[in-house]
Amino acid sequence: MVASLPKIRTVRALRARVKAWRDDSETIALVPTMGALHQGHLSLVDIANKKADRTIVTIFVNPAQFAPNEDFSSYPRDEKRDNAALSERGTDLVFSPNHAEIYPPDFSTSVSVGGLSEGLCGASRPHFFGGVATVVTKLLLQALPDIAVFGEKDYQQQLIIRRLVRDLNIPVKIVTGPIIREADGLAMSSRNAYLSAKDRAAAPRLYQTLRDISAKLASGKTTGQVLPRAKRQLKAAGFEIDYLEVMDPDNLIPIKGRITGKARLFAAATLGATRLIDNLAVPQRRRAR
Ligand code: AMP
Repeated sequence: MVASLPKIRTVRALRARVKAWRDDSETIALVPTMGALHQGHLSLVDIANKKADRTIVTIFVNPAQFAPNEDFSSYPRDEKRDNAALSERGTDLVFSPNHAEIYPPDFSTSVSVGGLSEGLCGASRPHFFGGVATVVTKLLLQALPDIAVFGEKDYQQQLIIRRLVRDLNIPVKIVTGPIIREADGLAMSSRNAYLSAKDRAAAPRLYQTLRDISAKLASGKTTGQVLPRAKRQLKAAGFEIDYLEVMDPDNLIPIKGRITGKARLFAAATLGATRLIDNLAVPQRRRAR
């Protein structure tokens, strides 16, 4: 039988636990999540366990990052299953605050990260990164971990978090883990559970398209030669495209034409009612001798 994990719901209890570990000179890693855990989340727990003596996983479905028409109330929640998965993987503590603990009445402060938050997901979900930045700032200040681990699946998000940590002098090292995928290439996501059987069968096409584009760009084709065609193919396969772009991975400035340096592909598209996001590095071309 899997042992039940210590779970706490208040900042006060969290700080007491962290203080006890600190008094024993133990290092602490934080893994923020919204629950409905899958192997992608658990891979971040593995990284945390390797890099620190103690791992705290936070589970909080953050209302501030959902627009009124989005899926906050239907977002998958399964505390029991999450708890079992985390016990098995090795976690020291689950911090699962209730709404009032994070957003007390009259809560009126928000963190916004300019520039990086404006393009890609920030353009179509203008509320999103403000909500993420505010809650992550709070979680970091509540736990004061040595490291915090985020997934490359949400590439723009981890860049924004790196920036806010730097700008606000929060003493934590941000670590990023690679995207964990299903066997057919679909990036794991708690929202994949929403996909109908038909849409689930079509969903890996997004990653296949990114791989295809990446190979073509790496072989010297231009964005103009590759992206419009890829968009048409995705549309024909049933995707409604939010964006499909090539960006500098350090600052999210769009890249057009032939790829000559670091570049990353970013995609968001809706299948049925489910929004999928994915991203992939474009390998740098070898220079001909
Ligand atoms: P979420 O619960 O969706 O807010 O995600 C919590 C953390 O897990 C974020 O840092 C995500 O980037 C990360 N994550 C989600 N899906 C994956 C995945 N497929 N591979 C790696 N990390 C992921």
